[in-house]
Amino acid sequence: MPKVTVSEDCTGCGICTSTCPVEVFEIQGDVAVVINEKDCIACLLCVNECAVNAITVEED
Ligand code: SF4
Ligand code: SF4
Repeated sequence: MPKVTVSEDCTGCGICTSTCPVEVFEIQGDVAVVINEKDCIACLLCVNECAVNAITVEED
């Protein structure tokens, strides 16, 4: 299972929540939180779309 993390650089813009095809992220307060890591398919769309490079996806 890929390891998905969001750094403190997140601005809560919500792009990752609309980009991820399997709904790994949810905006809680003003930041993105990883709520569904188990479904991540490591497509890296979120990594490529995040404007502040806050997301890391490590494949195992
Ligand atoms: S796309 Fe990046 S900055 Fe925007 S909510 Fe997701 S992690 Fe945060
Ligand atoms: S790599 Fe793809 S499936 Fe995994 S969290 Fe990012 S957008 Fe979602």
